[in-house]
Amino acid sequence: MLEDLHDLSARFPGNPRTLLLVEAIDHGAVRDAVRAVGVGPVEDFLRALAIQLQSLLHEGSNLYFVGVGRFAVLVDRQNRGLDMFVEQLVRTLREPVASGSLMIELDARVGILKFKLEAPEIDDSLRKAMTAVHNARTVGVACVAYIPEFDAGHQRAYAILRDIPRALAHNEFHLVFQPKLRVSTRAFEGAEALLRWRHPVLGAISPGEFIPLAENTTLIHDLTTWVIDTALMHLAELHNAGLRVTIAVNVSARTLERPQFLETLKAACAKHGVAREMLHIECTEYSGLTAPATLESLKQIRALGMQLSLDDFGTGYSNLTCLETLPFQMLKVDRALVAHVTENPRARQLLQGIVNLGHGMGFRMLAEGVESEEVFHEIVALGFDHIQGYYLSRPLAPAALKEFLRAPPELPRKEVLIHKRSASRDRGCAPGRDCV
Ligand code: C2E
Ligand code: CA
Ligand code: CA
Repeated sequence: MLEDLHDLSARFPGNPRTLLLVEAIDHGAVRDAVRAVGVGPVEDFLRALAIQLQSLLHEGSNLYFVGVGRFAVLVDRQNRGLDMFVEQLVRTLREPVASGSLMIELDARVGILKFKLEAPEIDDSLRKAMTAVHNARTVGVACVAYIPEFDAGHQRAYAILRDIPRALAHNEFHLVFQPKLRVSTRAFEGAEALLRWRHPVLGAISPGEFIPLAENTTLIHDLTTWVIDTALMHLAELHNAGLRVTIAVNVSARTLERPQFLETLKAACAKHGVAREMLHIECTEYSGLTAPATLESLKQIRALGMQLSLDDFGTGYSNLTCLETLPFQMLKVDRALVAHVTENPRARQLLQGIVNLGHGMGFRMLAEGVESEEVFHEIVALGFDHIQGYYLSRPLAPAALKEFLRAPPELPRKEVLIHKRSASRDRGCAPGRDCV
């Protein structure tokens, strides 16, 4: 294909062309099909598909095989009729394709690239078209045209990943701490450590952006080790100042499954002279948590005396069976469920159901993202054991946390509600769930 493009650019320098990249079936699906029926039938199927695509082309357009299940179409005409052609292509690819006695359903995506027949653009054409295909898959649509902004996103992601090791070495990261309230005593008895990054060029980068990127690489382990070490250093300082609180750190499932992780935890507690019970581990709901290595690791962490909380409960990978098997003590109900509790009776009923379910199974329940006094009272009335959110406090720098814990704010009381429910709320633990 590249040879053809270079020939064309010698004959028609600078002329516009369109490249369509068709990903008929994604790599994972091809791999599964090979495992199920063998290489031969899958090759037959891809050949049948190529013939079908070829039959759609007009004279002067060429089809190229550019990867397993991937074809490029170089369209030899201007915009006229292009939309119709793409539509027809997508419609055809929706039909199942015969492979021996099997009919295989495709999940095709098309990336469209308009470019000029010039050397640098030609050499970058396939990459750009693939970026468009990738975006079509991510967004969940059949076809997407390439725009330069796609590259900006990828370049930023690349820069972020590239810079994490330097940022660790140069102290660009720091931690902030968000206090957590225990409802029954009205005491702030713990805080969650949240990572912050001040990048010298890109400015403040949210963990919501760099953590998911790091989670695809081994860098997440280095970050977690740094977070645990730093959080425990601050915790030791708080304890020295007479403030007996716990600190929670967020740990990705990928880190949990590593056998070395347990040693990291033990070593950090020993280094800072902090009792293990004072460290809490938060994991996001994630299907990987039930993998044997991860489950074993969770059990061992529990055996060390650390508390385990299941984070963002009720969204994403909600998997109720994991409540039965995983050794968690606390469920942190996601703020998406908490936010609408005062506006919507259904949201309130849902939360009440979750609290009852959790308490019934012996979990302590925490509501995340409580932002107003109204929501605070509602959450207390629903029987939650712990509360965290901007209404109580934003995440604080270590010095501000110390001040906050020394002189916590006065909280409004609604005595009637609190007394009515106190018996069920401060229940401690169900049998088998040794709470900290
Ligand atoms: P998360 O663990 O669910 O943390 C809570 C997030 O909600 C934090 O955002 C916090 O600032 C925010 N938040 C707290 N109260 C409120 C509220 O009342 N309203 C609203 N709208 N937001 C509230 P942040 O710090 O941006 O962290 C985002 C996510 O990044 C975290 O979600 C966590 O999944 C991840 N993360 C942060 N630090 C670490 C870390 O050290 N390690 C790992 N693995 N993940 C981390
Ligand atoms: Ca968390
Ligand atoms: Ca959360």
